[in-house]
Amino acid sequence: MPSACCVPNCKSNYTKNSPNISVFSFPRDENTRRAWISAIKRDNFVPTKYSKVCAKHFPENQFLTVREAFNTSTGELIQVPMEYKRLVPGAVN
Ligand SMILES: [Zn+2]
Repeated sequence: MPSACCVPNCKSNYTKNSPNISVFSFPRDENTRRAWISAIKRDNFVPTKYSKVCAKHFPENQFLTVREAFNTSTGELIQVPMEYKRLVPGAVN
């Protein structure tokens, strides 16, 4: 089961019966991290490595989170995570 979202009043992944929603860890980059924290509007919130923000809080066009590439020798599709900088919460409520 995916991790629950840390945004106040967001119940994504809180119950087993709710649909699974993608969640994202906080970025390591200090500026991006601060942008996330201020967007979340949770007082004195300090994210841990277990804190997650679900996909509902990101604008649609910020979802280019992975680059896809084919491994030509195995035919396997490889997904490489992109820079977190592109993923900034938008309409957080
Ligand atoms: Zn959420």
